[in-house]
Amino acid sequence: MKNYNSVKERPLPVLVLLLSTVLSVGCAALEEAQQRKQERTRQQQQQRYVTFERPDTEIQSSPDGLTLESEHYTFTFAEDLLTHPDYDEPEERQNTGKGALLFMESLYNYVHDIFGFEPNHQLIVNLRQTHHGTTHLATTSTRTQTVYRNGEWLKIVEGIEMDFPVAMFNQRDVRAHELTHAFTNIYLLPTWFAEGIAVLVQVEYARGKSFRRLDLHEDLKTDLDGRNAVQYWEGHLSRDQLTEWRYSYSYSIVAELKKRFGEDFYPTVFRLIEEDQLHQRLPGEMTTSFLAYYLSQAAGEDLVPFFVQLEFDVRRITKAQIMSAIMQANQEQLGR
Ligand SMILES: [Zn+2]
Repeated sequence: MKNYNSVKERPLPVLVLLLSTVLSVGCAALEEAQQRKQERTRQQQQQRYVTFERPDTEIQSSPDGLTLESEHYTFTFAEDLLTHPDYDEPEERQNTGKGALLFMESLYNYVHDIFGFEPNHQLIVNLRQTHHGTTHLATTSTRTQTVYRNGEWLKIVEGIEMDFPVAMFNQRDVRAHELTHAFTNIYLLPTWFAEGIAVLVQVEYARGKSFRRLDLHEDLKTDLDGRNAVQYWEGHLSRDQLTEWRYSYSYSIVAELKKRFGEDFYPTVFRLIEEDQLHQRLPGEMTTSFLAYYLSQAAGEDLVPFFVQLEFDVRRITKAQIMSAIMQANQEQLGR
């Protein structure tokens, strides 16, 4: 596996490293129930898939076929696959890896075009027999480090790694879902929004059939405090009905905003967030109020009432308030 330090990292200006933490933003995608559903619709899907492959992608492989590299990816075969009859010969690994990277490279360009930005790092993709003890869990993790630079705390992305059991990797829409996380994890978005965006790409661009649009008012669920049950979703490693609903409902919000404000809406949102770099200075994950500020800026109208109607616990905040919250958090961090 390639060392993170050797790849495409932005050189960091002089910085004093006082605190080193690793934050992992993971996503547990799709388990057994969904696997069965996928199986049923596989036939139809295959006929409808967009062909993403670009034949001109350059791919280099190690002689043993264990590691392959393309423009944006380093692809590895995990040890638990090497006894598998389909992957025990170097040639089999090279052929599989090349096919996978052709698709992943064109998917990369596709997602890049949708959102208008890309990660600064080579993406590490690990293909394995099992992941966390199961064959039905794919994850995308972003390692960040918190550093003290020019008088304030900043989160710096150190590496992005995707892990797929073969059974999950073979589902192209799952790859599209996870790749979307690889792009957006760097913004430390609220879980509901990150998942909504990933499902949007999975369903609308990679033609996945796993989630459907819900009615934002009729299908609304709340927690015991009366707040929208997607708002404080922290992710999960298991699937149940509520989780299924959260994916679908989050996707429905994201899709509704895209319908109202057009194709350029999300590229604008991410451009505005990127310009300010405030997400890097927040002590934790972005809150929905913080996100609503940027969504409103991109929409050209106040979206707080939209979220209030959907029972989100959300405040109208200004950039000055965001800055002051960041300063306060910085002082607390220095004082501890
Ligand atoms: Zn996800």
